[in-house]
Amino acid sequence: MRYIYKDDGVVKYIKSEHYNATFNRINGEFLRWGKTYDDDPDLCYFGPELLDIEISSGQCSGNCPFCYKSNESSLPNKYMGFDRFKQLFDTLPPTVNQIAFGITDLDSNPDFWRIMEYSKENGVIPNYTCNGKMVDEHVAEKTAELCGAVAVSYYDKNTCHDAVNHFVKAGVTQVNIHFMLAEETINNAHELIDDISTDERLKGLYGLIFLQYKPHGRGISNFTPIMDLNNFNKMLKYAESKQVSYGFDSCTTPIYLKTIENTAEYQQKLIYVEPCESGLFSYYCNADGEFFPCSFMEGEGEWKTGISSDGVNDFVSEIWYHPRIVAWRDKLINSSKSCNCEQSRVCRSCPHYDAITVCKIDKIQLEVI
Ligand code: SF4
Ligand code: SF4
Repeated sequence: MRYIYKDDGVVKYIKSEHYNATFNRINGEFLRWGKTYDDDPDLCYFGPELLDIEISSGQCSGNCPFCYKSNESSLPNKYMGFDRFKQLFDTLPPTVNQIAFGITDLDSNPDFWRIMEYSKENGVIPNYTCNGKMVDEHVAEKTAELCGAVAVSYYDKNTCHDAVNHFVKAGVTQVNIHFMLAEETINNAHELIDDISTDERLKGLYGLIFLQYKPHGRGISNFTPIMDLNNFNKMLKYAESKQVSYGFDSCTTPIYLKTIENTAEYQQKLIYVEPCESGLFSYYCNADGEFFPCSFMEGEGEWKTGISSDGVNDFVSEIWYHPRIVAWRDKLINSSKSCNCEQSRVCRSCPHYDAITVCKIDKIQLEVI
């Protein structure tokens, strides 16, 4: 399959018969369509749109009780150095619009800023997620200069709010909070929503992003994925009542679809949601340069090991069309096809973590709020 690629310095265009996309580097606006504007392609045939690259792991002073990587302060630090990153980056196709970097403590990778600079200089907008520690004026200014967005993981209220404040003051336009959503944390989400509407440090926050808990890593005996969709719905309605902008990871899409399916805003909200896109539009790479559908699949099931990018020459044929990820795509694309559910046509659900799609197990009766 062939495509035409154009880049005017601000907007990138990809045109082909079954996949078309534009990406605006300045405001982050991204549009994707298929043969017609009404089509949603199942796959970007020419490479990933988004890469999620872990550039450090192991040692981390956050010690968050739910860390899905099981990072902690007693572990040795491991990081992806600049040369390794550059070698990989130079093989990437022009479909890659953004790279989301995952870092433990901000000083865990001595090449952190150099990696981000190289990415930006070469037309790919970086963003990163951090634990909020060590964020000072210097870090915030560098982030404003180089990044399209930054996310702070919420585990300690003041660390998070202070970091957000630094980033906003430095002029980062998209500062998000990542909140791990589980049955055990949903009440804290209400508290955070209150903070967002009252705490001066959070003025200018772009959005609150919910990441549904997956049973992987350290939190496995203490946390449970969302089971009560009425509570989930109430929490979203509470955020809306406080005019707090929210979003969520694509893992949460199935349960979100169920909460909106019989509402007047269904069609409008549907435009903004994307079901799991792992290996279809995005791809995760760990600090060793190994590829997995997403970060939560690392070490799980048939993904005990990833697809090595060592010595790769042609990213698309060797990594994007590796037989293992091609087989994964079939599973993911068909993951919700057999559901007896109105959302089946637009939904994809996790092929691995059944527990995050309670909608598949129980017939949901949502209370009217
Ligand atoms: S029941 Fe199936 S199709 Fe319906 S929302 Fe859940 S995962 Fe998606
Ligand atoms: S594969 Fe599962 S855990 Fe990974 S992004 Fe998709 S839904 Fe989430």
